Amino acid sequence: MAVEKIIVMALTYPELSKKHGPIVCVAGVNEYGEWRRLYPLPFKIWSEDDYKNIKFHKWDVIEVDVEKARHDPRKESMRVKDWRQIKVVGHIEDWSLRLSIVQELLDPDIETIVKSGRSLGVIKPREILDFYAKPRQRLKEDAEKLVLEKMEEADSTVTLLEYLGIKDEHLLPEVKEPDTKIEKLPWIGYRFYCRNPQCRGHEMMVIDWEAQELFRKYKVVEGPVKEKLFNYMVEERDLYFIVGNTWKYHKSFMIIGLFYPPKGTKTQKTLIPLFKKRAKPKTLDNFILKRE
Ligand SMILES: [Zn+2]
Repeated sequence: MAVEKIIVMALTYPELSKKHGPIVCVAGVNEYGEWRRLYPLPFKIWSEDDYKNIKFHKWDVIEVDVEKARHDPRKESMRVKDWRQIKVVGHIEDWSLRLSIVQELLDPDIETIVKSGRSLGVIKPREILDFYAKPRQRLKEDAEKLVLEKMEEADSTVTLLEYLGIKDEHLLPEVKEPDTKIEKLPWIGYRFYCRNPQCRGHEMMVIDWEAQELFRKYKVVEGPVKEKLFNYMVEERDLYFIVGNTWKYHKSFMIIGLFYPPKGTKTQKTLIPLFKKRAKPKTLDNFILKRE
């Protein structure tokens, strides 16, 4: 489709597919402020030295050649044509600039995102009640179960192609590393109220890479994990959730990224708009002279 500059705002914990090895989902926005999901990308970008020149992190700006992911109906989902050609062209370091970007994209509440039909969004919760781990037998959402199942493909015979219903193998990146082991993904997440006055509360799983990695290190929520992801985030930071739905369950959202500027961070006043405007497409309507 086109080469786009994308501000990387979220990276999810690698998912494992038996046939294609571990893959990562990246979310961000392009220069027009349009949400983008880049999926799948091979984990080896982050794990192997050979790719350190294209290895990117949150708030890096990357240049990628993308096209609409044909098998994924979500409008934000893009396939990277050749991940080896990814270019890291910049980085946004300043919290107030990051906040200005997030403010431009901010959704009022979860319900609005669901209604909009978008598959990605960002909210600032009204109140964060807890961060906790949920035992598997208590999982209610099919989407959560699906993600956990996907992580366990290493122990099953299902391949990523079968999972996504993709017939053409060439549509996937070459990430065949069947020996790579990734630990089972636990359900960890937040209980919170969004800003919808009618909100009845959310329990949302977190698949943000940093958060999952931290939990993997300590294995329990109590202690350093809760200290960082709850106490610190609530007391010293303003926590925002970047949320995304799953391919199969459009109404089920998960927290795919955490954005946490220090408390009191102010947005930057900029003279020029942060995002470019797309020219309005010409429709027949533009050519029809209106009679008063
Ligand atoms: Zn809500």
